[in-house]
Order: sequence, then structure tokens, then C-alpha cells
Amino acid sequence: MRADAVPGTERQGAARVAATAGWTALALLVSALAHAAPTGLVAQGGVARWTGLAAEDCAIMGKRYPAVDAVCYYPIDLRAKPGVHEIALYDQDGKQHLGSLTVEAVEFPEVEITLPDDTYVELSEANRNRHIEERARVLALFKGKPGPAQFSLPLAQPANMPASENDFGSRRLFNGVRKSQHTGRDAPVAMGTAVKAVADGKVLLAEDQFFTGHSVFVDHGGGLVSMNFHMSELLVAAGDEIKRGQTLGKVGSSGRSTGPHLHLGMRWMGARIDPYLLLASPNLLPTVGETVVKAEAKIDAARTAEPEEVDPPGKAPAP
Ligand SMILES: [Zn+2]
Repeated sequence: MRADAVPGTERQGAARVAATAGWTALALLVSALAHAAPTGLVAQGGVARWTGLAAEDCAIMGKRYPAVDAVCYYPIDLRAKPGVHEIALYDQDGKQHLGSLTVEAVEFPEVEITLPDDTYVELSEANRNRHIEERARVLALFKGKPGPAQFSLPLAQPANMPASENDFGSRRLFNGVRKSQHTGRDAPVAMGTAVKAVADGKVLLAEDQFFTGHSVFVDHGGGLVSMNFHMSELLVAAGDEIKRGQTLGKVGSSGRSTGPHLHLGMRWMGARIDPYLLLASPNLLPTVGETVVKAEAKIDAARTAEPEEVDPPGKAPAP
């Protein structure tokens, strides 16, 4: 035992030196890669992009999906975990490029909303069951494998969109009871105004739902689904192929709503994102490889952004 212990120790010592050298080389390589891999900054509910590499596919958080006009967009759910997430871009030669995005936490405001009665606050058993069924049907819409993108950015305006409060992500109390986080934007658009498709696509679901009223979900390819809620009337049906600018329905106040308004929501690869980000120029999105200061400025600007008014504003009641 003792005789073996000495050469054994020597062997272990040699192995340790080799291992140390190996680890040092690996550490240098990792640090070189870490420095080479481009980084970006994005807020919860935001979208970052990676330009300049003729992208074919993109990947984040274990999901791979098509690029849009050779650019990768990385949609970040409003409840995504803050911190560093690895991203990938696959170029048109199939080469993988790695980078990372730092997701910043957002302090979403709290908003109190008063409803005339508690129908939408304390649900009856029938309404609860109806909601559970509808929710399952809606969540299933975001699970399919994405086809090629049928859109370019920016998307079309769904209507003339007058200024509204930035209520994306707001944590809502209905009649004093905490109920939900607002996953879209509400614009004060007059009752009966046409609600138009933001891009070509296919209607996934068009029906009257308990909370969201007359609702339309449109698949635009590339993993992007747009939603319009609380309409007074639906003018399309599930399965319809539709064109950018086509009327989907009319502004109303159906479901859990305090007055006529246009609710626009977007899910991209399942992530609930601020829909106004896709109505503005994509150059305003934080971009992988740019400075933190520039990215921060874009994130701040987006939080107060309003879509451009495309027509003179009509007389619109408050939402
Ligand atoms: Zn809304």
C-alpha cells in the first residue's frame, strides 16, 4: 500500500497539472467566446432583434422559429424570468450564431377598475366552467409549430388608434379584487369602428367568450398570433384566410369591459408582448450588439409610446 502510494501521488499530481492546464485553456476559450458572443438588453413584455446575419431561424428558451425578413426577433413574455437568456440565430447557410439577452424586470402599474356588478368578479359556477373551457381552447392555439412568417414589421394599425394610457402589463383590481394582469393594450376607439387585421393570416378562433367578449385570434405565421377582444360584432369565422387590413369585426364593449374600446393583444411564440412594439418601426426595438445605454433609451421610449394616428381622431369615449 505504502509503496504504491508514492508513485500514485506522483501520477495524481501529474494528472492534476494536466487537468489544470486543460481547465485553464477551457476557461480562456469560454471567456473568449463569452466576449465574442453578442449581447442585448430587453424588458419583460418586450422584443429584441438581431440584424445583419441573413437569418433563417431563431431560437430562445428552447424554442426554434422562423426569422422575419432575414432578421431574428426575440419576444419576451411579460412574466419571463429576469436575467441572462441564451439566444441563437441560424443563418441561411445553416450556421449557428450564439448570443445572449439580459431580461430586465418591469414594475407594471396597478390599476383599479370599477364594474357595475360582480358578475365578472365573483363567478357563478356556470360562468367559471365556461371560462375554464374557453381558456383551454385559447391556450391550445399557441402550441402549434410555427409556419413561415406571413408578415413584415411594422404591422398595420388595426384602426386609427388615439392616445391611450400605457396599461400593458398593468395588474388589475376589479371592484377591489385582484384579478389579472392586462396582456394587451386598450385604445379609446368609438363603438362600431372597423377592427382590421394587422397582417395576412388565418383565423384560428372567432367566438363570444366570457371575459373577452367577441374575440378574434389570427395566426400570422412565424409564431405570431394577434388578438382583438370586446368587439360588438364578428365578421370572420375560424378557418378564414384573411388579408392585411381586412375587417375582422367592430369595436364594442362585450365581455368584461367598462365601455367601448379596441383591445389589441399579441402572442409571439406564446410570449405575451406589448403589441404597440410591432406597430412601430422595428428600428426602435433594442438590438443585439448595441450599447446598454442605447438599449435602455429604446426600452424607456417604448414604455410611453403610442402608435401613430393614421386618420384624424374620431369622437371616442374613454375606455
Ligand atoms: Zn384590454
